[in-house]
Formats: sequence, C-alpha cells, structure tokens
Amino acid sequence: MTLSNKILLGMVAGVVLGSLLNAAFGQQLTPLLAWLLDSVFDLVGQVFIASLKVLVVPLVFVSLVVGTATISPGVSLGKIATKTIGFYLLTTALAITAAVIFANLIDPGTGLDRSFEGSFTAPLPPTVKEVLIDIFPTNPIAAMAEGNMLQIIVFALLVGVALAQVGTPGTAALRFFESINDVNMRMVTILMHLAPWGVFALLTTLFSAEGFGAIIALGKYFFTVVGVLLFHAVVVYPLLLLTLTRLNPLTLFKNIRPAALFGFSTASSNATLPITLGVVENRLGVNPSIGSFTVPLGATINMDGSAILQGVATVFIAQAYGIDIGLSGYLAVIATATLASIGTAGVPGAALIMLAMVLQQVGLPVEGIALIIGVDRLLDMIRTAVNITGDCVVSTVVAHSEGLLDRAVYDDVSDRDRY
Ligand code: ASP
Repeated sequence: MTLSNKILLGMVAGVVLGSLLNAAFGQQLTPLLAWLLDSVFDLVGQVFIASLKVLVVPLVFVSLVVGTATISPGVSLGKIATKTIGFYLLTTALAITAAVIFANLIDPGTGLDRSFEGSFTAPLPPTVKEVLIDIFPTNPIAAMAEGNMLQIIVFALLVGVALAQVGTPGTAALRFFESINDVNMRMVTILMHLAPWGVFALLTTLFSAEGFGAIIALGKYFFTVVGVLLFHAVVVYPLLLLTLTRLNPLTLFKNIRPAALFGFSTASSNATLPITLGVVENRLGVNPSIGSFTVPLGATINMDGSAILQGVATVFIAQAYGIDIGLSGYLAVIATATLASIGTAGVPGAALIMLAMVLQQVGLPVEGIALIIGVDRLLDMIRTAVNITGDCVVSTVVAHSEGLLDRAVYDDVSDRDRY
C-alpha cells in the first residue's frame, strides 16, 4: 500500500472509531476508555503535531535562503513576489465573493432559533499599520522563536539575496545551507512514515470528543459553507489552472492528496507546511526557488477556505439578528476579509478571530460567533484542506508562468513516496 493510502486509511479509521465511541458513550466513557483516549491517543496525536511544527521554522528559513540564493539568472524576485501576492489576493477575493452570493441566495440564518447562543469575547484587532510594521523583523532569532512566518520570510529573502550577490565569499555559507536543507527534507520523509498513526490518533481523539449534533440545528449554515468550499475547490481552482496553464487539474488533485489529508487532520496550514512544501516541489514539479517562497507565504496569507467561512458566517449572523448590511456592507466584508487574511497564522480556529474583525468592521454583533462555534472544528478541517489546495494551485501557476515547472514531475501521478 502506498503511503498516501496508508494515511487515508489512518484518517478514515480515526473518524470511524472516534464517531463510534462518541455515539456509544457520549461524555460517559468507561475509566479504561477515558484513560486510553487521553493517555494514548491524545498523547500520540499531540506529539505528532509537535513533530510537524518543529520542522516548520528550520524548513522555511533554510529552504527559502537556498531557493533565493540559487534562483536562475533572469528570474526576478520582485516579479515572482508581485504575481504570487496578486494571485493570493485574487483567489481570496473570489472565494469570499462566492460565499457572500451563495449565502444570500440560500438564506442560512433567516428565522434561526438563537436560544442556544453562548458567549464569545472578541479579541482586539490590530490596525493595518501594525500589521504592515509587524512584517519586518527587528530580531531574527525572536522571529524564529515566535514562529512569525512573515518576518522569517523577509529575513530569509534578505539572506538569500545577499548570498547570491556576495559571490565567492558566500560559497561556504551556501553549501552549509544546502546541506541543512537536505537534512530537513529527510526529516519530513521520516515523519511522513509515522503519519498514518499520528493521523489515526488525532482523529480518534477529536471525533470521540466532539459530538457533531449541532450540525443538525445549524444544517443550512454548515452545508452552505461546505457547498461553497467544494465549489471553490472543484470549479474555481480547476478553471484558473486550465485557463492560466492548460495543465490537467485532476493531476494536481491526485498529487496534492497527502497535503490535503494532513490539512484536514490537523486543521492547521502551518503545521502542514513541511508536507505542502514537499508536495509542491516533489510531486507538482515546482522549482524550489518558487516553492520555497510561495508555500510559506501562502500558509500565512492565503486562506481561501477561511475567507469562505467568513463570508457565509457574516451573512448568517446578519440574518440571524435580522440586520441588513446592504450591498456596501458586503463590499466592505469582501475587502476586510481579504485583508484580514494577511498576517493571521494558519492555526486551528484562526478564521474566527478574523471573523470578529470583519463583523466589527460592518457593525454586526461579534457575539454572533457563539452561534456557529459548535460546528466550527469540522468546518475548520475542511477549509484548511481548501486553503492548502489554494497554495498548491497558485504555486503551480506562478512556477508555470516563469518556466520553472517540471512537466515530467507534474504529470507523474504514480503514488510513489515523493515528499
Ligand atoms: N485552520 C485554518 C488554517 O490553518 C485557519 C482557519 O480557517 O481557522 O489554514
């Protein structure tokens, strides 16, 4: 069995076992089961997530330094950055526009019984100026210690450009980074072989604890979000890929499977980053000079799935409270949500923090978030897979436009272990 299939098996087994436990015992687990879930499954799951996360900073920093320092002559970093950011913003804006339109057609919040509303305290949103200043590091070690992705990207770009410009005196440093890069990639491969167990443990714990009964009460909302997510993934992305590159979208979907499965299981684009990077470079054929920039940037600023959630949730909350924010309100939602996605880390539940910002912007009650929180974990898993798919699509489009996509690798759908 190939590794991707083993991971898929681990995932399905975890969902089934967890759901069965939840259905059979609910919160009344026997002492032995409670111990097993907490001290074995949860332990394995958390160690697995930690092992993924520990690779993120070294991998992003070193691969981006090497990618920038060894960029082919004639390829302009500025052009790549402009294109990448442009596509990321474009796909996010498309995603949220579709969400607002579909949600207005479906009306998920009209006449909702708000009696099960809990409470939600909104965090204070940063200003645009603060977000921009925060992209630039004052201390590279602090940036790495905090895992501040945008700051790490800026510093790695600077080191990479300087390495390329300095010439011979930089050769030893470049060789050092190249060697560390190979070691990092090997660590990802080692981790991938533990993944089926990690994913199994994670999902068993999660599904045994989360009853998804709230889905019934919030069915219209839940399925509107899922519907728009699917629409974006299977209609918008393939159309973009076809029109811009003429590449076969099915091939892309087949090749990115491991990253999408990881995104679903961890609900974190950040934790999945090592896998996404491996998939983009080794299975989609994106040159490392491009992938090492587009993937970490995407994990941080490109969240199409999260934007969709915000679009639907805003309409839902407006309807549930009987407030009409009008066309200008929705345009403000599209602009705010697109900007809000920049600088928000790809961690579980991040979209709700961004949503608080969006609601405040258009004067809707932030407590409305409490209405949807009960079904958010499952939606988080699905939208994270979409976020990651978006990063893979844009990386492919940018690499293709620069002539830096290896067609032979892209077209190879054999599911051998390439990470
Ligand atoms: N969990 C998402 C991610 O990591 C962010 C969110 O939508 O909450 O990409």
